[in-house]
This record gives sequence, C-alpha cells and structure tokens, in this order.
Amino acid sequence: MKELVVISGKGGTGKTSITASFAALARDAVVADCDVDAADLHLLLSPEIRERREFKCGVEAVIRAADCTSCGKCEKFCRFDAIRKTVEGEEKALFVVDALSCEGCGVCARFCPAGAIDLVERSGGEWFISECRFGPMIHAQLGIGGENSGKLVSIVRDAARELAVKSGRRLVIVDGPPGIGCPVIASVAGADVVLAATEPTLSGEHDVERALSLARRFGAILMVCVNKWDLNPELTGRIEHAARAAGAEVVGRIGYDRTVTEAQIAGKCVVEHSDGPAARDIRTLWENVLRRLD
Ligand code: SF4
Ligand code: SF4
Repeated sequence: MKELVVISGKGGTGKTSITASFAALARDAVVADCDVDAADLHLLLSPEIRERREFKCGVEAVIRAADCTSCGKCEKFCRFDAIRKTVEGEEKALFVVDALSCEGCGVCARFCPAGAIDLVERSGGEWFISECRFGPMIHAQLGIGGENSGKLVSIVRDAARELAVKSGRRLVIVDGPPGIGCPVIASVAGADVVLAATEPTLSGEHDVERALSLARRFGAILMVCVNKWDLNPELTGRIEHAARAAGAEVVGRIGYDRTVTEAQIAGKCVVEHSDGPAARDIRTLWENVLRRLD
C-alpha cells in the first residue's frame, strides 16, 4: 500500500481540486481529507457518512456546584480568565467555567480546597468513515473551539491506511493541510510521495520552498506541480528550477482554466466536469505521479 499526500505552502493553490481529480482517476483508492481546519474535499466528492466517531481533544474543567464552597480561589488562580462568579445566591456565589476559554491546564482542580473541580475529556469534533462515488473516504469536522494540533490529522490518516489494508486497496490519497505547522507534519511523516501544489506568485515561490524543506526531512519522494502556470511563465520556470535544486521532481503544470471554478460550483472534480486544458493537464500530472508510485 502506498500513500500520496498533496500539500501546499498556503491555501487556495488548487490542492483540493487536484486531490479530488486524483481520486476520480485512481478509482480504487481510499481518500482522506486531512485539511481538517478547512475541510472542503467533501464539497467535491459528496461522501455518504457510514460511521461517525467522536474526536476527543484534551480536557476541560467542570465545577460540581454541590461541592463548591464558593471560596473563589479557582477564579483567582485561573490565568486564562476562564472561571467566573455568575450569581450571588442566597447562601453562596456560583462559579462556572467558560469551556471556550478553558485551556485544560488543571490548576484550578489542583488547588480547589473542596476538590469540587473535575477535568473531563473535551469533545473536539467528529471524524467520519464514508463512501463517495470513487470509493471510501475518511474526513472530519472540528467542533466549535476544537483544536487541531495534528492529532485529528493523525486519526484521519491512520483510519484511511487501516481501511486501505482491510479492503485490499493499494493507494491512499491524502488532501493535506496547507502551511508548515504541526498538522502538515502529521500528514507527511511516513508518506511515500508528497506532491506540493503551488502557483506562480512570489508568495507561492516562497511557500513551496518552505513546504519542500519541511517534507524533505521525512524522506518521502518529493514532487511539485505549478497550478495556473501560464499566468506567469517566467516565475513558473524559476519555481521549477528551485524545486529541482531542492531535490523535488517537477511532475506537471496546470494551465489557467475557468472550468475549474465551474467544476467547483457544480460540486464535481475537474476531470469529471470537462475535458478542457486543466483537465488534460491534471490527467498528465496523474500519469506522472502514478509512474513514481508503481
Ligand atoms: S476553588 Fe473550588 S470551592 Fe473554591 S470556588 Fe472554586 S470550585 Fe468552589
Ligand atoms: S483548567 Fe486551567 S484554564 Fe481551565 S479553568 Fe482551570 S485553571 Fe482555568
């Protein structure tokens, strides 16, 4: 089983459109949306959810009002201002924790003289085992205030790999997070091939360099493609030159094509929606990537 992760130095470089088209062209791959902070692969692949699982992320403090003596120490100790005195009751004040402000540090529970504070597991969202029209898909939705430190990315990725092994599929295609933070590290560590998608802009040039430099540390085969390359052929050449110098293989260029946006609006992959220039470029790109995966 092989794993291909599509990343980008920043969002909006066509990473998800490319991943969705790869899913359509591969047909029998497991697809994983690891861009959990801005998950949108489901908009193109319309998965049907078969199973949902809760994502637990850290702990939060909860005060047991019946045991609280209203001493107010927790309010003073909480450096995140997450505990507030809300009501002056007839006998005692009521202290409550604002779950969105609580960082789960545990100081209040440690110093509450009445032992009236519990640290309970926090629900950070959900992840799903689904079926889309090209095969199985694993994806997730962060809850309000849910924190993605890479843990949810790892859960989604592990589930996709496990599903691929169980179902005898030979490929996992991952829509990775943008940037170079912990979620990206969680998505590229141990992958076989990392494809960085970029655009011919100065920030795109800088971002792809950073993404490659990060991915290189994990020993994967590195590849680069330039999306909308014809908007600035000179800069495209420069990016490709730098990518080769950084040890990456340049596997394709995708020309600017307004049918890409039309496909997004229609909720389809580019290669399903039309046979225009971008669709043809993505097919060529896929063939080049596939050659290295085999
Ligand atoms: S420290 Fe404990 S007893 Fe004191 S107000 Fe807070 S929860 Fe209540
Ligand atoms: S766990 Fe830490 S952040 Fe949360 S309420 Fe207690 S002291 Fe404040």
